[in-house]
Amino acid sequence: MTTPATLHRVPRHPHAWLAWLLLSQLAVALLWWRLGWTWGLPALVLSHLAFVVPVFMPRARLYAPVLDRLPVDERAVWLTIDDGPSGDTAAILAALDRHRARATFFLVGERAQAHPGLVGEILRRGHGIGNHSQTHPAGRFWALGPRAMAGQVGQAQQALARLAGAPPRWFRSVVGHTNPFVAAPLRAHGLARVAWTARGYDAVDGDPVRVLQRIGRDLAPGAIVLLHEGAAHGRSVEIVEATLCLLEERGYATLEPPE
Ligand SMILES: [Zn+2]
Repeated sequence: MTTPATLHRVPRHPHAWLAWLLLSQLAVALLWWRLGWTWGLPALVLSHLAFVVPVFMPRARLYAPVLDRLPVDERAVWLTIDDGPSGDTAAILAALDRHRARATFFLVGERAQAHPGLVGEILRRGHGIGNHSQTHPAGRFWALGPRAMAGQVGQAQQALARLAGAPPRWFRSVVGHTNPFVAAPLRAHGLARVAWTARGYDAVDGDPVRVLQRIGRDLAPGAIVLLHEGAAHGRSVEIVEATLCLLEERGYATLEPPE
C-alpha cells in the first residue's frame, strides 16, 4: 500500500474551482466574440454543466479530492457502513464479530448524540468511525451554502470527537453529493473525503439478492464497499450479514486504511 499521506487527502485549495469557473467564462466570452452565438451559446451551456454535474457525481474531484479505492493487491476490501448509529448497530456489530470483520461506521452527528453508548461500542470492538454530517439532509445537502455546510461538517466533527475521544479523519458526503462549499470545512477539520467502489443501493432497495448482485459486480482488491444501517425497509442487518458471507465466499478479508 502507498503511504497514508497520499490516501488521506485533505483539500488544500478549497476555492480552486473559482479560478476554473472564471477562466472558463473568459474562454466562453472570447469564443462568443470571435465566432458568434452559434458557438458561444453552446459553450456557455456546456461550461455551466461542467460545474453542476460534478456536484452529483460522488467520484468527481472538481470540488474536493476523494478516495474511491485502496491501492492494495491482496483480496481485501474496506467495509463502510453509513447513516448510523441506529437500531441496527448492535446486530451489525455482532455480525462483524462473527465474521471477524472490521468496518468503518460513517455516523450522523445528531444520531450519535442520541446513542452515545453505541458509538463507544463501535470503537470498543475495534471499528473506526467517520463523519457523515450532523443531520443528514439528504434532499438538500447539494444545495447548502457555505455557512450551513460548515455547520453540517463542523457540528458532527465536534460531537463525534467528544463521544469518541478523538476527531474522525474521514468524511462521506450525504448521498455522495459534493458542492463548492464542502472543501473549506473539510480542510478546517483535517478531513479527507471517501466515496466507494462498490454499492448495492441498499439504503432504498431491501432485496438482498439484488443488492448483493450489484456489490458483487464491483468487488475487487482494494474496493471500498458502501453499506447502510437503519434503512426504512428494515433489512439492513440481513444485507450486511449477506455481504459478509459474499466476501468470505470470494476469499476477501476486510481492512481499514492505515492511520
Ligand atoms: Zn447517508
